[in-house]
Amino acid sequence: MAGKLCHPRNGCGKLKPLCDFYPCPNGKLGLTVNCKGCLKIYNQKRYFRRCTPTAGSNGRMMYLLGVSISPTIFKFGSSCNPARRAKDLQANGWYKVILLKTWPDIENRGVQVHKALTPYRIPAEHAREWYAAESPEAMIEKIEGEFS
Ligand SMILES: [Zn+2]
Repeated sequence: MAGKLCHPRNGCGKLKPLCDFYPCPNGKLGLTVNCKGCLKIYNQKRYFRRCTPTAGSNGRMMYLLGVSISPTIFKFGSSCNPARRAKDLQANGWYKVILLKTWPDIENRGVQVHKALTPYRIPAEHAREWYAAESPEAMIEKIEGEFS
């Protein structure tokens, strides 16, 4: 079983499956130190504040990324560290990845926005979170229209 030990002092210290941890780009294996169950007990909010100071109640930020090769292609997603996410993507590609804007991902709003953006999704394999719009401003308008 692919698993990870929850921190023995801050948490339960048990071996848990990877899906029992929240994603956190700063953590080992890209996961939080403590399991989901322990984080619930040990004030999740406070824990995540260390990841990003302006994150939503679940510690995550919605982000919009642009790429240098096209002003009409965007990646929208949710992460507890959007700047790190942009850097990781940058490392995979030969083009420049630009962090355009972030919003607190309150109550998993990101999931709702993803659904609303479905018509603009780029129909390519491995491009689940990539979208097309006329301009960055137009893309931001579409996103913010979902929660204003
Ligand atoms: Zn635990």
